[in-house]
Amino acid sequence: MVNTAKKFVEKEVAPVALQVDETGEFPGQLFKRAGELGFLGITMPEQYGGLGLDFTTAALIYEEIAKSLPVLTVNMGAHAELAGGLLNMLGTPEQKEKYLTKLCSGEYIFACGSTGPEGGDNHVEHAANAVLDGDEYVINGNKVLVSNIGVADVYIIFIKTSEVDPITRDGISAFIVDKNTSGLTIGSYERKLGWHGSATGTISFSDMRIPKDHLLGPEGKCMQATAVSCTNEFLICGPVGLGMAEAAYQMAFDYSMSRIQHGVPMYDRFQVTKFKLVKMRTMIEELRAFVYGTLADKDAGNLELCEGRMLKIRGAEVAEEVAREAIQIYGGVGCIDETGVERFWRDAKVLAIGGASIEALQDFIGTMMRYGKYPLA
Ligand SMILES: Cc1cc2nc3c(=O)[nH]c(=O)nc-3n(C[C@H](O)[C@H](O)[C@H](O)COP(=O)(O)OP(=O)(O)OC[C@H]3O[C@@H](n4cnc5c(N)ncnc54)[C@H](O)[C@@H]3O)c2cc1C
Repeated sequence: MVNTAKKFVEKEVAPVALQVDETGEFPGQLFKRAGELGFLGITMPEQYGGLGLDFTTAALIYEEIAKSLPVLTVNMGAHAELAGGLLNMLGTPEQKEKYLTKLCSGEYIFACGSTGPEGGDNHVEHAANAVLDGDEYVINGNKVLVSNIGVADVYIIFIKTSEVDPITRDGISAFIVDKNTSGLTIGSYERKLGWHGSATGTISFSDMRIPKDHLLGPEGKCMQATAVSCTNEFLICGPVGLGMAEAAYQMAFDYSMSRIQHGVPMYDRFQVTKFKLVKMRTMIEELRAFVYGTLADKDAGNLELCEGRMLKIRGAEVAEEVAREAIQIYGGVGCIDETGVERFWRDAKVLAIGGASIEALQDFIGTMMRYGKYPLA
């Protein structure tokens, strides 16, 4: 699988990586190929078209892709880990048959909208609400900063079905929404610092009527599943950060060997450059050990909820620091987008927020360390 990923990256992803960053267009062809190669359902059950493999394999694949085009892992992660994780965990057999099979093949693209314009990561203030009217839910409100909008065929959305309990966060339900549903409006794409090529924006609901059987999981109780499903997504952020850091480090190392300063390669002339590269490499190897140690725990069924979140934090932090130092080693040309190194720093910065901010994750981990459980009720 890893060799397949390497070939895919070398032959199909790398040649267009800079172009995707420049145009910001969703890389639909690459996404489709990822589906054909099985990369959209790596850990999903074979019964529903997945490969039924472990998270270590998934991580190795994500790491390879992130070395070349990190945003493709974001497109894949929102689809397979966020939306797919919830469908797999909460879906009825009928829902899985109808949606999960097409998710794994890539025939349908999925998005997952949980962030509201009000409040933040905690969901308590979110105002988008659903009211049951006969056999249908009527939904009003909106979700912001949703990845894969416009290109998605199906949206999994988190909507308030009753007042939200600030401790357990009961009161939020998940729904499956087909793109052509009347009352659904897809906003325009946001221009962003990084992750150019992920279609991010607002989706709005105006008296949108959803059949009752499009409720995903028990009414009002999807946040516990989200705690786990998000952990799957966060787990993937570790290897994604690792891949980004490796790519930026390798570019900086190669540049330091080819850039001549005072008649010798920069690497040999400046001790500070050598020391920076040693530190970068050390951080990468530490992260690698953390990523694959944690993934081994996941595959053995021993993962604690905090660990997935820690992986996302370290993945983002290491990628950001290594990419920032890589730009410094390049000097002026490092600031030019054509060089291709600064995009890793921009993408790493967004990795520290998108999906969940580092601080919100630390808050969750701190609570788990104090009380040892989630939810707290
Ligand atoms: C490019 C991109 C793609 C995204 N894709 C999706 C998507 O597909 N689906 C989706 O639902 N959302 C998506 N998001 C939204 C993302 O998950 C949120 O931006 C993120 O969870 C932070 O929430 P917020 O923006 O509401 O910030 P807030 O929650 O308002 O937080 C603002 C800041 O406050 C601090 N903070 C917040 N909470 C805490 C806390 N508990 N403890 C300490 N400090 C805290 C942090 O510094 C944080 O950065 C995306 C975001 C980006 C940037």
